[in-house]
Amino acid sequence: MQEYLVSMSYFSALSIVCIVLYAFTYFLPTPENQNKARSTFYFRLLLLFTIAAFEAILLRFEYLPIASAIVTNLFILLISYLLMFAIYTRYDCEITLRHYLACAIHSVFFIGLIYLAQIYLNAGYLRSALVLMNIFIPYALTLRKCNQQFKMHRVGDRILYGSLLLTLLIFVVYVVFYALFFSDEKHVPLSLYFTALLSFICILFFGFALSIIYSLVGKLRKEIITDKLTGAKNRNYLTDVAEKMYSLAKRRQEPLSVILCDIDSFKKINDSYGHSAGDKVLVSFSHVIESSLRTEDILIRIGGEEFIILLPYNDIDKAVLTAERLRKAINEENIDIGGKNIQISASFGVVQVDTTKSIDDNINHADIALYEAKRSGRNKVIAYSR
Ligand code: GH3
Ligand code: MG
Ligand code: MG
Repeated sequence: MQEYLVSMSYFSALSIVCIVLYAFTYFLPTPENQNKARSTFYFRLLLLFTIAAFEAILLRFEYLPIASAIVTNLFILLISYLLMFAIYTRYDCEITLRHYLACAIHSVFFIGLIYLAQIYLNAGYLRSALVLMNIFIPYALTLRKCNQQFKMHRVGDRILYGSLLLTLLIFVVYVVFYALFFSDEKHVPLSLYFTALLSFICILFFGFALSIIYSLVGKLRKEIITDKLTGAKNRNYLTDVAEKMYSLAKRRQEPLSVILCDIDSFKKINDSYGHSAGDKVLVSFSHVIESSLRTEDILIRIGGEEFIILLPYNDIDKAVLTAERLRKAINEENIDIGGKNIQISASFGVVQVDTTKSIDDNINHADIALYEAKRSGRNKVIAYSR
């Protein structure tokens, strides 16, 4: 009776945790991508299977040790597969019939293996090692998928990868503990099983939830600094990055230049071909510029048809050459507007940043040069002269 009560309390505690975490998944942000959204579905199943896996071990009270061993271990294997499916879909990899089939075949093979092990393998640690080897298959595939998609700079990826490794460690520690201290006993001690499952599920849940939240935060951060139409950076980014580049140039005494550019007679394009044609021109313009710049250069759309380009390590001579190259590239681009090719031009004001003056002062200087380029006929590059 006493033993029954203890096992029931373990079971209730684990079920409550799983149900609470299950409910919690409904409050997690849902990814827009349908495939990624399925990841939460697999994770919910995993939580339910965890309860079932614990329930299965209680079957031994019904005096069915072999059935209990088979069902318990099968649930553990299925949990590893559900984890694999959750991670695959999290990284936008579709789960197909092939995956389900592989899981089903493995499960049938596994049931046979456990059955034989229960009959012929007396040493508990050997039976545990067998289970561990099988669990390792979906785990290895999951870790491989994570590794392929893993981006070091993404905090969410690092958390997810770390939590996966931790849960794998829990499996290993559980099996080693069992093999060292309890393999001679008739049953797996409930406290050990409970602790392993509880820590497994908690670590996994928080890793999973944090990775979703972090990837959303990363996406929002990116959206905040990106211009929706052209994909170039926007004004929000300017304040942030200009400050950093400015102080870096000041500290290292390296040149930094700014190009301010503005499409010529853009209003006419809107008036003649319509606003959406104007939008298309803006997109082409920014693509041409972006593809002509080095990776460390930064293109920022600061207004309607006005852009700023930050050129680290460039003195005024280099920056003027770059601006001239961009001007020519813009001139040579044919933009298809509803079957009609049009050509555009842009004017450029260039300045080498004077770090004794404020960022705004330097941008004003570039603006003066740009105004001069416009005034003297457009389609020109003018350097600011102090
Ligand atoms: P200038 O050569 O002197 O620069 O003449 P401009 O016509 O290019 O300059 P102006 O400032 O007179 O006109 C800019 C126009 O850009 C006015 C505005 O309607 C248009 N514009 C601003 N933002 C957008 C946009 O996002 N899409 C489109 N299609 N047009 C825009
Ligand atoms: Mg203009
Ligand atoms: Mg303008």
